[in-house]
Amino acid sequence: MEYLDLSPYDYLGFPLPMRTVGWLGRRYGVQCASMAPMAGAELEQLKAISRRLASRTLGWHDCDFCGAFEGNGEYHYYLPDGEIYAAPMMILHYVEEHGYRPPRELRDGLQAAGQLRWDRRAERLHSVLLDQSEELEFRCHAAVDLANWNDPRALDALRRAAHDEDLVDVAGDEIGRSLAAFVDRGLARDLLAEDLHDMVRYGIDEASSR
Ligand SMILES: [Zn+2]
Repeated sequence: MEYLDLSPYDYLGFPLPMRTVGWLGRRYGVQCASMAPMAGAELEQLKAISRRLASRTLGWHDCDFCGAFEGNGEYHYYLPDGEIYAAPMMILHYVEEHGYRPPRELRDGLQAAGQLRWDRRAERLHSVLLDQSEELEFRCHAAVDLANWNDPRALDALRRAAHDEDLVDVAGDEIGRSLAAFVDRGLARDLLAEDLHDMVRYGIDEASSR
């Protein structure tokens, strides 16, 4: 799949509107390659917010320019200005190997990313996660992305999700990875003593062992 940067994202269903960055291919080539390559602190900031993959089981992306393959999944960048950018896992490869430079809209928000205030996006993901009438796929996305908010409301919803059988069956490990982020933040130390499903515990252990 190839998009011009900042196009509306429509590759997979998602409960919030997103815009695309780094979906490169042969048609448009390496967008913005003529500008100075991304390096130094800016590149480190992009890497720092590219730790957690979303939509890991769907959508394969190889590099059209050199054939490299780095696996599948997407990064979702939640910026404080309210925008969400979706990038394929290959974005770091494009930046480091092919001189791709993400658009200013994303670069300008990198530094502040990761310090999100509870907002309408968080409210939406929170309600999708806990609403059993929502599509299971949407609820799985919400379980991954809600961990972007270092907020007790997100933790509370994820703890409840960890005891929702339908959700745990398909996304128990992702719920565990999200909960592990709160353990890291010191917000959920009592969690480890809780009676959790094996898949949830597996996700916590996997995230903690990195
Ligand atoms: Zn390549």
